[in-house]
Amino acid sequence: MKIIAIGRNYAEHAKELNNPVPTVPVIFMKPDTALLRENKPFYHPEFSEDVHHEIEVVLKVCKEGKHISEKFAANYYDEIGLGIDFTARDVQQRHKEKGLPWELAKAFDGSAPVGNFVPKSNFSDIYSINFNLDINGETRQQGNTKDLLFSFERIIVFVSQYITLKKGDLIFTGTPPGVGRVNVGDHLEAYLEGQKMLDFYVK
Ligand code: ZN
Repeated sequence: MKIIAIGRNYAEHAKELNNPVPTVPVIFMKPDTALLRENKPFYHPEFSEDVHHEIEVVLKVCKEGKHISEKFAANYYDEIGLGIDFTARDVQQRHKEKGLPWELAKAFDGSAPVGNFVPKSNFSDIYSINFNLDINGETRQQGNTKDLLFSFERIIVFVSQYITLKKGDLIFTGTPPGVGRVNVGDHLEAYLEGQKMLDFYVK
């Protein structure tokens, strides 16, 4: 499986990092070794002093597809969940300044904690889903899928022009504003429409 992620998909988050609001999706990937499941602890890497949390709605791809048209894109994901796109912001900043790729800031081991998935049919409107991330009992990020710049379907259409999607692939769909540093000892809890999806510690 592979993890595909979308950068700057909420205008308010693009602005908080002084990035332009994109006109086409910004794509990057994480390897399977980034995946962290079952609320295992996240071990803070030593190469960064500024690892940020980015809470994101994650789509689970349910069938293989290439050059998917917008009309059929919704058939390619059947479950959604929450994940955190941990980002070594200091490493990313150094790479951005040089025009270099972001992989070392985004794709490191354990950088993609993902909770359980729920059928998308559980939601009456997939574009009106609230989600939030609490740290040590305090809400730090709050989002709603109505604010996505590129819809789940447009992401699938765009990505599948370049990369074949396969069953089991995960798509991180971008983070709302409120990103910030995590510290050793922090307790992270993430909720999708009030249902707890992630609950783990930084070690
Ligand atoms: Zn992200």
